[in-house]
Amino acid sequence: MKLVDLPKLSTKRIKALSESGIDSILDLLNFYPRRYLDRTTVAKIDHLRGNGEEVTVVGRIKKIQQKGRGRKKRLEVIIRDDTGSLKGVWFKGGHYIKKQFSEDELVAFFGAVKKYGRQFSIAHPEYDKIGDSSDIQDLKKIVPIYPSNKALSKTYTNSKLIHQWQKVILKHEKPPEFLPESVLEQHSLPRRHEAYRMIHLPTSKSEYKQAFKRFKFEELFLFELSIAKTKHEVIEKNEGKIFQNLGDYTTAFFNQHLPFELTDGQKSALSDIKKDVRSGTQMNRLIQGDVGSGKTVVAIGAILMALDNNCQAAFMAPTEILAEQHFRTLSEFLKPLDVNIRLLVGNQKKSLRTDILTDLEGGGCDIVVGTHAIIQQEVNFHNLGLAVIDEQHRFGVKQRAEILQKGSHPHVLVMSATPIPRSLAMTLYSDLDISIIKGLPGGRKPVKTAVRPQKKHSGIYDFVEEELKKGGQAYVVYPLVEESEKMDLKDATAGYKKLKKRFSNFEVGLLHGQMKSKDKDATMQQFIHNEIQVLVSTTVIEVGVDVPNASIMLVEHAERFGLSQLHQLRGRIGRGERQSYCILIHGHKVSKEGQFRLRKMVQTNDGFEIAEADLELRGPGDFLGTKQSGLPEFRVADIIEDQRILEQAKTAAWKVMKDDPSLTQPEYQELRKVFTPYYKERSKFYGMG
Ligand code: ADP
Ligand code: MG
Repeated sequence: MKLVDLPKLSTKRIKALSESGIDSILDLLNFYPRRYLDRTTVAKIDHLRGNGEEVTVVGRIKKIQQKGRGRKKRLEVIIRDDTGSLKGVWFKGGHYIKKQFSEDELVAFFGAVKKYGRQFSIAHPEYDKIGDSSDIQDLKKIVPIYPSNKALSKTYTNSKLIHQWQKVILKHEKPPEFLPESVLEQHSLPRRHEAYRMIHLPTSKSEYKQAFKRFKFEELFLFELSIAKTKHEVIEKNEGKIFQNLGDYTTAFFNQHLPFELTDGQKSALSDIKKDVRSGTQMNRLIQGDVGSGKTVVAIGAILMALDNNCQAAFMAPTEILAEQHFRTLSEFLKPLDVNIRLLVGNQKKSLRTDILTDLEGGGCDIVVGTHAIIQQEVNFHNLGLAVIDEQHRFGVKQRAEILQKGSHPHVLVMSATPIPRSLAMTLYSDLDISIIKGLPGGRKPVKTAVRPQKKHSGIYDFVEEELKKGGQAYVVYPLVEESEKMDLKDATAGYKKLKKRFSNFEVGLLHGQMKSKDKDATMQQFIHNEIQVLVSTTVIEVGVDVPNASIMLVEHAERFGLSQLHQLRGRIGRGERQSYCILIHGHKVSKEGQFRLRKMVQTNDGFEIAEADLELRGPGDFLGTKQSGLPEFRVADIIEDQRILEQAKTAAWKVMKDDPSLTQPEYQELRKVFTPYYKERSKFYGMG
């Protein structure tokens, strides 16, 4: 059957459907109702209570009248059954609705009933014209309401018509099942054809619920299957180098040179890594830990394991500032060990660059720290054994895949400082093994957070000054709105001038995205060495910067920042012995959501809790930036609400992949037909096509 075989399908309607993403019979079947009207109970008017209960009432039209003037203008349609009367009221669109009805006609109204005086009424009822010939029993059903849009409503392609088409399709078509029998059975899912019937022509609420569950499952199952296959093809096929020795470097570092005790979280992450690098398959592990949990030392541990086994290690950061900082940190930590560390970033002199590349290829360089410049084509390693990626969410899935494929298939360690909610981690990173570093190194005092209005500025500055006098340092952050970098710069620059005056006894510095990276670095260095006490900046300091002496984070227009971003900023302080303070300053008008975010920041310091709330506010696409996140847009599933289904789908998918990775068994015939094109599409996304 083809779309054109459907009744009442004009060329205009075909076009409207196409504009709505419907180009085939299957697309139309996959066009699900947005909600359902439950008409299984038609109420008698004298049984109504009028306290907002949703009902269907059937009666004859007694009166159609336009009432009121101006803003109070409305259409009233009074219907009567054999027990009483009820009024339908339209405050909008009355002009059009009026033409639909004529007196004495039999109609059904559906909606929430209110009682005004002795009169029952429903505002903007859904309605059906019944016509005397039709059977009232026909109304006692669940009616699907389909989504609409401009194109559809312009061509009068209404819910009823779409419903009619679905009926016709389901009579003629029987879409083949592609989920394996065993999976259907285990999870009590309706078969595909039946599920389409249940979603378009349900006889009860539980039917369409079951159908939705099935379609969500199907969607998540395919997604998980694609991840499982990626893992199977890319990772498990790659033999991992085996780091058998925990030799001189690792032992010496942890026993003699590390200036502190590892936390339990750090120890367990390191032991996970140790297991991976000895297993014979490529490590692909995510270390999740809140800001300040001490991920760098864990990475250093892994790097030393590589060095002990005569391999090189690479350490990637998302920005040059961070790469440079990591370079310094690593150099500092590893000073006693006599290893050759080099920094590779985008804007180095050609001669220096050539020198570094030669060094890498020849094996003279043990560790290279840098931005994604490291994984570019022309960079060749002598024997790369490990790649560490810091701040994963900025890189995304594609880059990780690139590294996994690079040269001799190094082990990969990904570190994320954005605590990713479990639900998201499970989908997004389900081909990764995950270690979580819980808790912060001891001796840390939790940051105190306060929310203040702009007009309190002078008091706040007094407070900041007290802290500076005690020897602390402060960040002052202005928002960066991408559309108008110039304007932000104005904000930050104006703030800088103001603060320079206010804190004339101290050094005030300015850091923003449009500065040359050399200047940025110089300013940052000054702040690190306490030659600058107040650092005014746009959010370029957001991630990873480590200045333990900084004890104040003052955020201007805090209501404009996302939750995770605020949490990242707060993570810049409280990294030393000092009690630290995060002061969130907001403007006059703050949206409800903005207020919620600020409140949440005061309520908790727990990054996971904040990430969970942020994800809920913004949805998964925005949370990570859809483009780089590698997250598909799910049609029906919602990875927050449908976590249970997601877990089931994941287990089922991974089981199938283990059972028969090429899906050649008879049970997987149909699945293979559906999965092959799906996987191809996703692989492109992964950059591995
Ligand atoms: P993040 O996880 O945010 O990358 P870092 O690795 O930058 O955190 O560590 C934050 C700070 O805590 C650094 O100054 C680091 O040297 C220090 N640190 C790390 N582990 C410990 C520990 N076990 N005890 C004390 N300080 C630690
Ligand atoms: Mg870090």
